[in-house]
Amino acid sequence: MKIEVLTIFPEFFREVFDFGIIRRARRAEIVGINVYDLRDFATGKHRTTDDRPFGGGDGMVFKPEPIFNAVEKILGTTEREKYPPRTRVVLLTPQGKVLKQALAKELADEVENLVLICGRYEGVDERVNEVLVTDEISIGDYVLSGGEPAAIVLVDALVRLLPNALGSETSAANDSFSNGLLDFPHYTQPRDFRGLTVPEILLSGNHAEIEKWRRQKALEKTQKVRQDLLNKENG
Ligand code: SAM
Repeated sequence: MKIEVLTIFPEFFREVFDFGIIRRARRAEIVGINVYDLRDFATGKHRTTDDRPFGGGDGMVFKPEPIFNAVEKILGTTEREKYPPRTRVVLLTPQGKVLKQALAKELADEVENLVLICGRYEGVDERVNEVLVTDEISIGDYVLSGGEPAAIVLVDALVRLLPNALGSETSAANDSFSNGLLDFPHYTQPRDFRGLTVPEILLSGNHAEIEKWRRQKALEKTQKVRQDLLNKENG
């Protein structure tokens, strides 16, 4: 997968993709990530990327031109029908579809070219949405100051779902949300930590019983804190 991030703060991403699974996936060429400074696509001496809103009101709005120029450079066109196959142009916005594991999986499975537009201020000129954007995605019902943290969350959630990105394929399968439940509790050494002991069943070597216990614990935790997931599973 190729991921292209459009931002006015490229420094925001300087090291964030250089750790753990994303770093390994980049090195193994499972994913390539490029970060573009939108100012490089702005015209004029001051390379301005924003302006005051028509109709008045507070704040600034991203101008369409730098974003159109950037998408044209990256995808070779600003016509959605002519985008290369398996391309999505995503606007990170609190008004978008809320990111869930299923959406991360859909993107990981279906997309080869992913362009992420990070807004700031009051947001982005609506013509970007009308013409270029294929998906509006939100990371939750709250308002961030910019799309950059949202882009990082989205990239992290979907890169770990790319084939061979994780050391062990099964570790994503047991993750929270993957099977409609939260994950089960995990324990490691030491067996006794300040009098806090590991559940006996995990030391038993009985894999069938361990599986049963884990499923039960996952169910209990989900019932306790995310009943909504169970309602969805049943309905
Ligand atoms: N005025 C906009 C609104 O109320 O819909 C909010 C603009 S917000 C201050 C600036 C930028 O942060 C947005 O353009 C978007 O790129 C990003 N952003 C804010 N909250 C977000 C969220 N929950 N998910 C994804 N991106 C978000």
